[in-house]
Amino acid sequence: MPELPDIVIYIEALERRILHHTLERIRLSGPYLLRTATPPIQELEGKKVQALRRIGKRIAMGFDQDYWLVLHLMIAGRLHWRDRSLAIAGQRVKKPAARGRDVAAFEFDSGRLTLSEAGSRKRASIHVVAGSERLAGFDPGGLEVLDSRLEQFAARLTSENHTLKRALTDPHLMSGIGNAYSDEILYAAQLSPAALTSRLSGEEIARLYEATRKTLRDWTERLRQETGEGFPEKVTAFRPAMAVHGRHGQPCRRCGAQVQRIRYADNETDYCPRCQTAGKILADRSLSRLLKQDWPRTLEELEAMRSNEGRH
Ligand SMILES: [Zn+2]
Repeated sequence: MPELPDIVIYIEALERRILHHTLERIRLSGPYLLRTATPPIQELEGKKVQALRRIGKRIAMGFDQDYWLVLHLMIAGRLHWRDRSLAIAGQRVKKPAARGRDVAAFEFDSGRLTLSEAGSRKRASIHVVAGSERLAGFDPGGLEVLDSRLEQFAARLTSENHTLKRALTDPHLMSGIGNAYSDEILYAAQLSPAALTSRLSGEEIARLYEATRKTLRDWTERLRQETGEGFPEKVTAFRPAMAVHGRHGQPCRRCGAQVQRIRYADNETDYCPRCQTAGKILADRSLSRLLKQDWPRTLEELEAMRSNEGRH
């Protein structure tokens, strides 16, 4: 699922293409995508984009008269862009097979923004709301770590007792962090994903705070460099430069130990047993018990569940 660095780069690329441009036409391929009935999505046609914002892992587009389109890509949703000049020339673009099906197209006076979703699970969602107060309802309330001081981070982290993996990926506690970057953050902090927030020392919390900020900042900057002036077409949770995420079975770049994976329900975490868990492989029965109670459920389920709670 696209996390904070990916979403920031999407938003920067969109700002260069659709900010202050008019949305002329919207085409949705099926009924599942749009989760709101009023205001009708067609009311956005003819309106100009006035703002783009990240809300957790969602992208919010603000239009004239305080209308907002809120997009959640979930795991397999991706955005694509084609300039108007190319569209007019009728130039065909060869789509990579992995891109999946196009489920929505937004024609702007500057080009076409397409949403694709791979796989069969239809999870990506669009909500259209009128008024900033309604928009605020989409914020699960997670802390923006890049805008927070250490004391705020410490208070939030320890407000409930959870494993670090869960605390980092719970959108009510921390904003924009999911499965991939939480692995990278915990590796950078050299802390165990199964450590409990209530047992962390002040020094460990400070280390986690710095690691969170550095990981999110460094990755955002790296993706920004890679994307340049182009549109981010290669958004993925698995990047070769990652330290542990997706590197299960390969040697740790710091110490050479084999990167390990814990799999639980739909969730998984990759970690280095030498750098993060004092050599321990996290697989014993007590961990299973712990994980049952305190491991993130599939994050999109958690978010969907909670956003429904907020809606009804
Ligand atoms: Zn290591």
